[in-house]
Amino acid sequence: MEGPQNRVIESQFPSQMDAPATDISTQPFFWSSFNISPRRQQHGGWAREVTQADFQISDDISGVNMYLAPGGIRELHWHQTAEWAIMTRGRCRITTLDGKGRPSVEDVEAGDLWFFPAGTPHSLQGLSPDGAEFVIAFDNGDQSESNTLLITDWLAHTPPDILAKNFAVPADTFKDIPLHNLWIFQGDEPGSLEADQKAAKVMPGPDSPVFGLSRAPTLRSNSGGSVQIVDSNNFPIAKTIATALITVQPGGMREMHWHPNADEWQYYLSGEARMTVFNTGPHANTTDFRAGDVGVVRKNFGHYVENAGKDVLQFVEVFRSDHYEEVSLANWLSRLPPDLVAQHLNIAPEMLAQFPQESQGIVALKQSQH
Ligand code: MN
Ligand code: MN
Repeated sequence: MEGPQNRVIESQFPSQMDAPATDISTQPFFWSSFNISPRRQQHGGWAREVTQADFQISDDISGVNMYLAPGGIRELHWHQTAEWAIMTRGRCRITTLDGKGRPSVEDVEAGDLWFFPAGTPHSLQGLSPDGAEFVIAFDNGDQSESNTLLITDWLAHTPPDILAKNFAVPADTFKDIPLHNLWIFQGDEPGSLEADQKAAKVMPGPDSPVFGLSRAPTLRSNSGGSVQIVDSNNFPIAKTIATALITVQPGGMREMHWHPNADEWQYYLSGEARMTVFNTGPHANTTDFRAGDVGVVRKNFGHYVENAGKDVLQFVEVFRSDHYEEVSLANWLSRLPPDLVAQHLNIAPEMLAQFPQESQGIVALKQSQH
């Protein structure tokens, strides 16, 4: 290669430096990463984000990666969009109030999801010993962590006599409120969950805003990996975000497929992946993903995701929808008259009969790969 080269970045994208011969043309880039996002750091925690301003094709979803130290508080706030999140490290205490005025206080840990409908007031606080790290997906690409309605901002910008009238206390009650918002700040670690639930007058009953991914039903599972689904069918509060947790063993591959109902926003949890996205034109482009990276595949664009490493690959597919939907190429081809398929592809019907006869989700490993 001639000219200036950033060898470090090049080394991360082998599939772009040496694309498969079948790749053709180009399309809006479908790779981004929290690993390249600047961190907004405050005492008590940090956040970094990938919004549509950073990642043009991500118009359905914006993503935030946040860490709260033990005791670190993400200030009481709410926003115009719904908030989905996956915990990846530590433990976090969350509080919410639903549209009927019913509170929740819950502790979540790595592998848990939460979902707050748009407008739900909430707080987050890291717990000992490691604090909490998580990734948020908002159901609008424009939403930013720096674009939320904050309790401190509202109180600081309301006349004290109005505050006094509203809360039925003297105006000087508010003489020490912060004049600048807190956003993330270091707080005191809370007491027991039970004590906080009692203090917040939590009553059993409302749809829980928390879902343990370990409880997610398995849609497909075989020697190559598994597909687990969380959507409003099993997590009723999650009316605008559906989730698929994808696990792919070394040598395995998420099969060729597409999603008719929504764009797919991906967050890579572990391992290494190679994905090709296919669109009209034709356009087909392949790129590489690692833990902390983000991908977007537009609705109905064909794609597959290979495990390109030696370790288990895990990622979540997040959709702005109340339910999960997919079309498997193998399933489609097996549900057609073989002669019709044979005339398209010039493949003998006897060979077509050897194709998988149903959706696999993940391609099963060959016996020799066990
Ligand atoms: Mn929020
Ligand atoms: Mn997909």
